[in-house]
Amino acid sequence: MAAYIVTCAECGTANRIPAEKEGVAGKCGSCKAQLPPLYLHPQQLDDHSFDRFVAGYHAPVIAEFWAPW
Ligand SMILES: [Zn+2]
Repeated sequence: MAAYIVTCAECGTANRIPAEKEGVAGKCGSCKAQLPPLYLHPQQLDDHSFDRFVAGYHAPVIAEFWAPW
């Protein structure tokens, strides 16, 4: 079973997140602070979902913009 490490921004604890929890916000096992959801795959957003996603994600976001023309 694949798992990934998400470091807590509050206390620095490394938290093991199972791959099947993609997109689910967890809590730090040490200080119980909320961890940002782990995304293993790119999320395709549009005009309506982009602002909501970025505003609600409390960690760095990498965005790639493209257009068909
Ligand atoms: Zn913590």
